[in-house]
Amino acid sequence: MSIVESPVLVEQVPAWDHSATLVVIGLGVAGACAGLEAHRGGTDVLVLERASGGGGASALSQGIFYFGGGTDVQAACGYHDSVENMYDFLRAVTSTEDEQSLRVFCEQSVEQFDWLEAQGVPFKREAFKGKAVYIRTGEGLLITGNEKVWPFRDTAAPVSRGHQVSGSGEISGGSVAMQALLSTVGAEQVPVMYDTAVTALVVDGKRVVGVKARKQGKDLYVRATGGVLIAAGSFNLNEEIIHANMPIYAQYGKPLGTPQNDGAGLLLGQSVGGATQGMHGVCATASIYPPADLIKGIIVNANGERFVPEDAYHARTAHYINLQPGARAYLILDEEIFDYPKHGSHVFMDAYETVNEMAQALGVPADTLQATLDEYNHDAHAGVDARFHKHADWLKPLHAPYAVFNISITSSDYHWMSLGGLWTNADAQVLDQAGTPIAGLYAAGASASHLAQDGDEYASGMSLAAGSLFGRRAAQHVGSNR
Ligand SMILES: Cc1cc2nc3c(=O)[nH]c(=O)nc-3n(C[C@H](O)[C@H](O)[C@H](O)COP(=O)(O)OP(=O)(O)OC[C@H]3O[C@@H](n4cnc5c(N)ncnc54)[C@H](O)[C@@H]3O)c2cc1C
Repeated sequence: MSIVESPVLVEQVPAWDHSATLVVIGLGVAGACAGLEAHRGGTDVLVLERASGGGGASALSQGIFYFGGGTDVQAACGYHDSVENMYDFLRAVTSTEDEQSLRVFCEQSVEQFDWLEAQGVPFKREAFKGKAVYIRTGEGLLITGNEKVWPFRDTAAPVSRGHQVSGSGEISGGSVAMQALLSTVGAEQVPVMYDTAVTALVVDGKRVVGVKARKQGKDLYVRATGGVLIAAGSFNLNEEIIHANMPIYAQYGKPLGTPQNDGAGLLLGQSVGGATQGMHGVCATASIYPPADLIKGIIVNANGERFVPEDAYHARTAHYINLQPGARAYLILDEEIFDYPKHGSHVFMDAYETVNEMAQALGVPADTLQATLDEYNHDAHAGVDARFHKHADWLKPLHAPYAVFNISITSSDYHWMSLGGLWTNADAQVLDQAGTPIAGLYAAGASASHLAQDGDEYASGMSLAAGSLFGRRAAQHVGSNR
């Protein structure tokens, strides 16, 4: 049976089992924030969650929220950020055409941070200054995007915006964040029905007026007089959708998420004419760092050529690896900087005394590889990477013997998540192909398209931050139209 059925016409509804002004589908970060916002604002809300408890992928996540514009944590850690600085960076790095949502994301970032913290989500006033994908050592702030990477470092002053919820050991920051949000949802008695999977939307003409759901083997109908918010997470675990949109990841790597991230949200939206955006977008990660010194190596493709500054954010590097012939790439190090990458199970190939020997083992042209190394070493001596502008901090000439890790998409264990989803506006309304809001329908979190359209544009934390903000904005919009 398909996870989502065709829309039900309102006249076919046998009887409404429940009614609310706002019906929220899913209790991850987007659903929890929407539920709290609606409930506090006096909007009668009902959250329907398919699992026996809330959390979703949000609870599995590393708990990095991308906030900026001058949050309390940034200020306490000595970073001077502003809304304009945050906007300039995101405008330069993302290709989204949704100017209004991008502006709102920056303008409301400080308020959203304060709001989350007020729900009990903890952020320490301490910065981690090294290069990491995430941290579980207690610090509350780290750089998680391409802020220091050329050309962005010349566009906006680079500052850290990855607000890291403290996790430790096996406990991720995401689970700490969701524990706080869910206990607030419980304490404030936001109505939630668990073990309730939404299977269809109910429509009256073109307006969405409710949902059909399945609970303990029975169908039930829930009326939504103000709107339905799809906050049902991603489609990372839906093989069919992945195969159609990002075929290489149907074959390689590991999707991030829970079994419930099967695309039900996307399919529900599409069933009533919701358009999609960025469906090929993917944030894949098998970072070469930490340790940070590995950034001083070079990455070459199957032609023996560099193609990305090695100090790029890990998902940007993965994005460019995916564009290379055969999605193949190799990280070349020397003795001085050799170490094993902490993430990504990159395969150590061997150590090589000469460039010829290395080229043969990698199956790349020796003359091009030699030319690449000569040029890089020349630039490293001069302190300026003329071709890819890797920051001078990471430049050093490489000398034999060399050591190589195979970091190809087809070889390493890339963990990935989709960035596409339903097309929404700044009020989280779902739009049709013509860009017109579908009355009564909202989407937030990973059911909606991300602001970053692909891995080269993403920064860790943009998903949780946008999900939490636009979930609340959906609730506010329904509340203001009651
Ligand atoms: C390991 C990992 C690390 C990550 N780290 C980060 C990070 O540090 N920062 C960041 O920004 N992003 C991170 N992400 C991505 C981020 O966690 C997700 O994009 C985000 O949590 C999505 O939130 P959501 O509320 O949209 O969905 P979810 O948290 O997945 O919640 C969706 C909920 O909807 C429910 N649901 C699904 N279908 C139905 C249905 N038909 N009816 C009723 N309920 C339904 C699900 O059971 C689930 O509880 C990470 C993801 C993973 C897995």
